[in-house]
Amino acid sequence: MSATLAIGSYAENDLSALRAEFDPVFIAGPADLVGLSEAVRKGIKAVTYKGHAPFGAAEMDLLPNLGIVANFGVGYDAIDVTAADARGIKVTNTPDVLNDDVADLAVAMLLMQMREMEHASAWARSGNWKSKGEYRLNRKASGSTVGIVGLGRIGREIADRLAAFKMDLHYYARSEKETPGWTYHSDPVALAKAVDVLVIALVGGASTEKFVTKEMIEALGPRGVIVNISRGTTIDEAALLDALEQGKIAGAALDVFLNEPNIDPRFYELPNVVIQPHQGSGTVETRAAMGQLQRDNVAAFHAGKPLLTAVN
Ligand code: NAP
Repeated sequence: MSATLAIGSYAENDLSALRAEFDPVFIAGPADLVGLSEAVRKGIKAVTYKGHAPFGAAEMDLLPNLGIVANFGVGYDAIDVTAADARGIKVTNTPDVLNDDVADLAVAMLLMQMREMEHASAWARSGNWKSKGEYRLNRKASGSTVGIVGLGRIGREIADRLAAFKMDLHYYARSEKETPGWTYHSDPVALAKAVDVLVIALVGGASTEKFVTKEMIEALGPRGVIVNISRGTTIDEAALLDALEQGKIAGAALDVFLNEPNIDPRFYELPNVVIQPHQGSGTVETRAAMGQLQRDNVAAFHAGKPLLTAVN
């Protein structure tokens, strides 16, 4: 009987590696746990988890001998760590290996928004370039004043990239960091007032829910652009939509939304919003590295060795 349960939808290379290493039981999501026999559930000691559906106390209680939930992804907000702690279950994630891709996408989204690349591309493809002439002038990105909200692993990589675009860097974190002279703001509203662009790189979960408030969004002002690569939950999304519709800010570039992939259709009506389908870490190379780290944590657990990237 297998001691490992693989939850979620995995790429072919991960499926073969999971089979070769652990011969796991596979289910598509936590809702399928109840369909497993009691004998199978009792045999499970490790879960590899991939997805955003909640995995909490009720799910853990269906697996009475569970010792580890190894998440595919750095953000483990779907997993109830407090419930895991209470049951002596370890949780691991996949930090660092995805920093470059997520930071690359954040910068690309910012440039795409300010240089209107989506509309400019449509202008050329539609024949307008040939029939009507040059695309309209847009907005210079280099040299902007940018505020990073959450200068963690990914936020730092974004800041390092934006420094190369000669941007004036400001940031919010709960404590001041060592930086090459970037401006620290302990008050997120003061940060929003000081910058043209806000890039949100916070952790997700209950502690940062609606961290980016209506007040912050409005403090950014009519030239303001918001880039979000964190989680849909970190922004007051209704306030963001209102501000975008009413021209209280200039635009947004978003990789993450509430209720993905059933995002609020109001977003589709907004030409000043760059929409990405939560693909921050979505390259072949990085997803392979994430899968490897997830499996390495499970292998360490089964071997009784120290976990590589435990979060509790
Ligand atoms: P990290 O190194 O832990 O950084 C997280 C940042 O959030 C830190 O600056 C931290 O502030 C801040 N923070 C944490 N709790 C907070 C709270 N209660 N209030 C205010 N600030 C708080 O995480 P990371 O590796 O950079 O990843 C960040 C997030 O990016 C992930 O959790 C995930 O949700 C998201 N992500 C998205 C994608 C995508 O595909 N779009 C891919 C990967 C990750 P301090 O410095 O003060 O501790």
